[in-house]
Amino acid sequence: MYSGGGGKACRVNRNPVAGLVLGLVFLGGGCGRGESPAGLPGTDAVVRPTPAARKVLVSRLAGSWYPGDAATLRRRLEEFFSRTEDQHLGKVRALVLPHAGYRYSGQTAAWGVRQVAGRKWKRVVILGPSHRFALPGRVSVPDATHYATPLGEIPLDRECIAALGKSAVVVCRPEVHRVEHSVQIELPLLQHALGEFALVPIVVGQLDLADIGRVADAIRPLVDEETLLIASSDFTHYGPNYGFVPFRDRIPERLEEFARNAFEAIRSMRPAALLEHVAGTGDTICGRYAVGILLALLDGGYQAHWVHFDTSGRITGDYRNSVSYLAVAFTRRENESGTRSGGRCGCPGMTGADCSVWPGAR
Ligand SMILES: [Zn+2]
Repeated sequence: MYSGGGGKACRVNRNPVAGLVLGLVFLGGGCGRGESPAGLPGTDAVVRPTPAARKVLVSRLAGSWYPGDAATLRRRLEEFFSRTEDQHLGKVRALVLPHAGYRYSGQTAAWGVRQVAGRKWKRVVILGPSHRFALPGRVSVPDATHYATPLGEIPLDRECIAALGKSAVVVCRPEVHRVEHSVQIELPLLQHALGEFALVPIVVGQLDLADIGRVADAIRPLVDEETLLIASSDFTHYGPNYGFVPFRDRIPERLEEFARNAFEAIRSMRPAALLEHVAGTGDTICGRYAVGILLALLDGGYQAHWVHFDTSGRITGDYRNSVSYLAVAFTRRENESGTRSGGRCGCPGMTGADCSVWPGAR
């Protein structure tokens, strides 16, 4: 996935005049495109009035999903991060993070974010499932220019979003982004731990394997060495409230078994394995398609690490209904000799000096 193009991603056009034209083209259609593929009702882009130069989406989560005032929120985040450790996994390039209210999953999410903290990220791409709107076969990008939380504004990478908008699988449904929490919930954690970055928020609809591949293809050219990829997902939703009661005894242990099995599928780095796990067990993983896109992007050259696990049942002491939270980090896969595969020349098992003997070496 990371082409090593270092800095080329999303630089569609750096000419200021041409860039302006590009921006106007994108904004001119409300969200830039009005494509409405036949036979896919509800997935067409919603045409909105041309937004002003600045369009700020203020997160509705403040004050309920996390503290609404900046000082209290910062203290809460400091508490979370003070209880995490850098696991020294290597150069982490991607994460799976949970997306419940901070009371429930903030600590697990902080464990994940801790693994990429202390590094400068130019861009963060967050893939989060759509909980409120049907988006069959599509993902949506917003029409905003900034997202705001109590910790300040985050600029959106409009150039990347415009480039994504050229793909037929990418639509722009502003109303989806206004209400969807799965992307927004990660933002204060990232602001606190990473400082400044540009954001590419992507809300993921209901996909099949082919769709997952198409979305990954659309995102892949935009990702470079300074891009952090995040898939936002909660794991097993257990209990009558979720219509999922596959067992009634040893609930904590069984929930962790479910998560371990889901992680094994993730560890295979194959989107199909994760969808097969869900199909075979009924596991209620809301972000399965978002995680699937992440796996397709990482393209097998990466290794998954189990970072932290928790459940709302443990936190509240009530397992009648429980949601599982898992943080996963991804690093480039190491081979036996300690060199990284798929590195400078993409030759598995070879150092740079050996590249010339590998077919197709560059
Ligand atoms: Zn969810």
